[in-house]
Amino acid sequence: MSLSAQAQEKKANVVVIGTGGTIAGAGASSVNTAAYQSAVVPVDKIIAAVPEISKIANVRGEQIFQIGSESFNDERLLKLGKRVSELLKQNDVDGIVITHGTDTIEETAYFLNLTLKSTKPVVVVGSMRPGTALGADGALNLYDAVLVASSKDAAGKGTLVVMNDEIHSGRDVTKTNSFKVETFRSPYGPLGYVVEGKLMFYRLPARPHTTQTEFDIDKINSLPRVDIAYN
Ligand code: ASP
Repeated sequence: MSLSAQAQEKKANVVVIGTGGTIAGAGASSVNTAAYQSAVVPVDKIIAAVPEISKIANVRGEQIFQIGSESFNDERLLKLGKRVSELLKQNDVDGIVITHGTDTIEETAYFLNLTLKSTKPVVVVGSMRPGTALGADGALNLYDAVLVASSKDAAGKGTLVVMNDEIHSGRDVTKTNSFKVETFRSPYGPLGYVVEGKLMFYRLPARPHTTQTEFDIDKINSLPRVDIAYN
């Protein structure tokens, strides 16, 4: 749906849950694209830095953590999932965006893709450069993420990761490079793209997700230990 068509409709209510990461990062100078402190900017400030967002959705921020995503653990994953589930049940919430560090964005997105019991859009988003850097990617990524979370076209497609103009399935996506903005890749390609406020889906996830799986975040209170034997 085009931005103008969407603006004519009632604006969606989107909650942006802040967890930290580079999208909440700040560097000492504008040329610091790789050396900076992550997880320092509050989610409300990240939202306020993109005033265009208020034209496409009614957005409110909620700070659940302020951490680098390498500090996610079972407890935090469950806390995040349960809070997202709670919000999705509210009639005044149409979609969720989670701002997240990129190092473990794929683990969180896949976990939510398997355990949330809702068809409302849930989008995990990050950035490769802090907001203080030349060529910072967080503002556009957040704008695109809110657009996807506001769209009925994104409903029922599982948890999505939106980065660098692309919409990926949480099941497929993986980070492939530690500094490039085009780092997120899916083996079968993204589900679609976001270009100038327009969502373009090219394919659908075929594997079970959210409402189709046996896992329910509301009923999971601990995760089983799984050991890995490297050979
Ligand atoms: N170490 C950061 C994190 O995952 C990197 C990033 O956000 O890109 O939180």
